[in-house]
Amino acid sequence: MIAPATALPPLREVIARHGLNASKALGQNFLFDGQLLARIAAVPGDLHDAEVLEVGPGPGGLTRALLAAGARVTAIERDHRCIPALAELGEAFPGQLTVIEGDALAIDAPSLFTTKPHIVSNLPYNVGTALLVGWLSADWAPWWQSLTLMFQKEVAERIVATTNSDHYGRLAVLAQWRSTSRIAMPVHRSAFTPPPKVMSAVVHITPQAAPECVDFALLERLTGAAFGQRRKMLRQSLKSVPGALDALERIGIDGTRRAETLSVLDFVALARAAKTRPLTVSG
Ligand code: SAM
Repeated sequence: MIAPATALPPLREVIARHGLNASKALGQNFLFDGQLLARIAAVPGDLHDAEVLEVGPGPGGLTRALLAAGARVTAIERDHRCIPALAELGEAFPGQLTVIEGDALAIDAPSLFTTKPHIVSNLPYNVGTALLVGWLSADWAPWWQSLTLMFQKEVAERIVATTNSDHYGRLAVLAQWRSTSRIAMPVHRSAFTPPPKVMSAVVHITPQAAPECVDFALLERLTGAAFGQRRKMLRQSLKSVPGALDALERIGIDGTRRAETLSVLDFVALARAAKTRPLTVSG
């Protein structure tokens, strides 16, 4: 039988009993508010009997909410001090929680699942973007069903940004060319212990059913070059990418434009055109 989350000891007591004082180096900012955690766990939709990957469960606040929603959670945590606290949580939800001690950046996560998991995480800020780019660059359709991730608000805004806005850049293109991204909820810095310096937001990302087929490495290279010199004209910033200037001309994008004026679909078209370079006639 599933233990109701209310029957569990308060998180602050768990933290005190296991000596889990927050480590800055591990990006530890814990959430304690049960209602907020339940709202985050509800973002992916009905989790009853669904597989979930949680990166960085820490003392297990979000993990509790996911387990209470009926999910089967596989949690990867780097801080060995948290493992006994998570083992206790696993006992309260028999058969629902698997805890792996390790670095989420180094673990082959897809091999841990038999079905496509939802990924739900209050991410450690120092590794959040690297994990996101890894999940977005997976073979498509991806091995995950949806991403529900906490980011610093500024990073969340960069993920969902639209053309011609200050936040629009490489991350927006990578997150939107074959996924749908939205900010599910803002989270005030005071919700965390200890509170970080900046506000946060939960982003929800779902894969598109039939995305355009593009060479991901090339798209990354194009966006890296274009936004790396975002104040420059494309005909200047894209010089370093083979085939890019020619591709601009072939799809009718004016080389005097700047990167932030191109839509996500423009970048996709550019990557496709740069990949299929015209045959040069010699002799
Ligand atoms: N989920 C908890 C919560 O919401 O209260 C803790 C979130 S805290 C922001 C981030 C957690 O990620 C910490 O427990 C930290 O130890 C863990 N962590 C940091 N780097 C990690 C990594 N590379 N792999 C797995 N876990 C990591």
